[in-house]
Amino acid sequence: MHVLRRPVLAIAHSRPVAGFICRNGFSKGLVRRFVAGEDLETAVAAAKSIAAQGMTTTLDQLGENVATAAEARAAATSYTAILSRMAEEGLEPNISVKLTMLGLDLGDDLARENMLPILEAAHAVGGFVRIDMEGSAYTARTIAITEALHDRYPDQVGTVIQSYLRRSAEDVERMIARSARVRLVKGAYAEPAAVAYQGRRDVDAAYVRLMERLLDAGRYPAIATHDPALIRAARAYTQRQEIAPDRYEFQMLYGVRRDEQAALTAAGYRMRVYVPYGTQWYPYFTRRIAERPANALFVLRQLVSG
Ligand SMILES: Cc1cc2nc3c(=O)[nH]c(=O)nc-3n(C[C@H](O)[C@H](O)[C@H](O)COP(=O)(O)OP(=O)(O)OC[C@H]3O[C@@H](n4cnc5c(N)ncnc54)[C@H](O)[C@@H]3O)c2cc1C
Repeated sequence: MHVLRRPVLAIAHSRPVAGFICRNGFSKGLVRRFVAGEDLETAVAAAKSIAAQGMTTTLDQLGENVATAAEARAAATSYTAILSRMAEEGLEPNISVKLTMLGLDLGDDLARENMLPILEAAHAVGGFVRIDMEGSAYTARTIAITEALHDRYPDQVGTVIQSYLRRSAEDVERMIARSARVRLVKGAYAEPAAVAYQGRRDVDAAYVRLMERLLDAGRYPAIATHDPALIRAARAYTQRQEIAPDRYEFQMLYGVRRDEQAALTAAGYRMRVYVPYGTQWYPYFTRRIAERPANALFVLRQLVSG
């Protein structure tokens, strides 16, 4: 994990910085690198262009931590519409959602209930809904809600496991036991040592252990990373174990390592690109900036040059 994550996230959440970036982020091109656009039209156009390059997508209408039940319901309605729209456009219907956008801060029942119409819509079009994993305060609840939903919609829903969390080996086993699809990531939030490994080496070693377990026994795992060493490890392991490239997929974020996305596709691997869009892009954007010093410096230069 990157040592600057905590300070970068703290600065990004300060009022003047957030205000400036929210006002100028798109116009200065800061945000466009990581966010497809502010509306569904631009996201669909981005997804089509990615599909034309032989890759698939998952669309994420950005937003998290809504404060009212009405906002949470509106988000659910909007997600069901995205799934049908993807199907109409000839795109594989696949979305990523956050339970705090569906009302998790107001109660587990509300978030779970708001997931039901989304999963029904996914079922109707043969689509898939990935429940993104948020900060560690939500992990246990997210796993429990995923399990309850998976009982009803075993082919339509899966979640994300973060290798930086100490608990993740157990969660991976729970998902394998019920044959639920897992996306494996390192983890993007600032977490305390009590729950998460702090060193890069530990996070990466955990990633390899969980990845091998998922490739051996999991259902169509998603290896979501831009890390060249981990991608090499996945390729070597699947070759050694003779795991065919249609039994799993790689995933990367929109705007990150496009060259590698194309190279893996050309080499015959499945690649899904996570395409975020919408007006609520600020928290997502700050996490991408915090991942990489070069990104933070770029934003800082833009701020200084006014
Ligand atoms: C499809 C997908 C879905 C995700 N969903 C979740 C989720 O639900 N919950 C969650 O906590 N996290 C999620 N993440 C984020 C993840 O946890 C990591 O924070 C992120 O992927 C960076 O880690 P990395 O594995 O790419 O390795 P790193 O070691 O961080 O990066 C390896 C290399 O990738 C490149 N790179 C990585 N990030 C960036 C960037 N922002 N800008 C430019 N270059 C970069 C750099 O070249 C870097 O050296 C997701 C990531 C992906 C790809």
